[in-house]
Amino acid sequence: MANAGAAREGLKQKKRIVVKIGSSSLTHENGRLHLQRMEKLVRVLCELKNRGMDVILVSSGAGAVGRTTMKLAEKPSALPEKQALAAIGQARLMMIYERLFSEYGRTTAQILLTKSAILSEESRRSAQATFETLLSMHVIPVVNENDTVETHEFRFGDNDRLSAIVVALTGADLLVLLSDIDGLYTDDPTRSDTAEKIALVPDLTEEILRMGKESPGSSFGTGGMASKLVAARIACHCGADMVIASGEDPEILYRILQGEEEGTLFLHQPDSDFDMYAYLNETE
Ligand code: GLU
Repeated sequence: MANAGAAREGLKQKKRIVVKIGSSSLTHENGRLHLQRMEKLVRVLCELKNRGMDVILVSSGAGAVGRTTMKLAEKPSALPEKQALAAIGQARLMMIYERLFSEYGRTTAQILLTKSAILSEESRRSAQATFETLLSMHVIPVVNENDTVETHEFRFGDNDRLSAIVVALTGADLLVLLSDIDGLYTDDPTRSDTAEKIALVPDLTEEILRMGKESPGSSFGTGGMASKLVAARIACHCGADMVIASGEDPEILYRILQGEEEGTLFLHQPDSDFDMYAYLNETE
């Protein structure tokens, strides 16, 4: 059994971090952007960059921002409408990130990925080279799924697994999922009084994977606990640690990197037999 304290200490040594923030953490209940939180997140990411870490942000929110921009109360059900809203929202989201990062003297870049690009070796290599070049230029890439081109049947659909793929592409050593749920629980904490938060997952056992089945969701986000466990499987097998933590206060990233017990830590379990691309196809 891994020692929880020693495992957390290991987080102090991380060099390349992917931070994913979900739509529900980026927006208020009325769907409008939580600007105060976004500002804080960007400031924290710039501070990590200033400390010498490579930083990549995977940000959701295109659909939610598009929806509020067009003043729609409900999520549309038709795919072209959803994609149109994502196109509107993504541009607006990047405009805000661009402005916030530049306040701290940092340059950002937009990377929009698709599942088909990841599954094609040529495109994947090209994306990998782009990430590496941006990081060598000390740019902070902001990543999302290219929602406007992927069809329903062939998309990641949530940024949890997309962020784990970014870990695999970039060789990052830590993935932090900032979410409206502050960790993995033994049961759904919104429905069960006896649900307990798990501080450390040294091994992705069947029992752990089952805990993702009954998971809470929200009206703006898309990824529940099941998709976070898919992400854990990809990230940990590719050699990174992963933390699920509350997105309420982005300064939690400092505490995580100081080895404090925040959220749930999934320990890396490098597995050279793990075929991420086959796994991606199995977990639609
Ligand atoms: N790509 C989607 C968006 O930006 C978000 C997917 C997710 O919530 O994980 O709206």
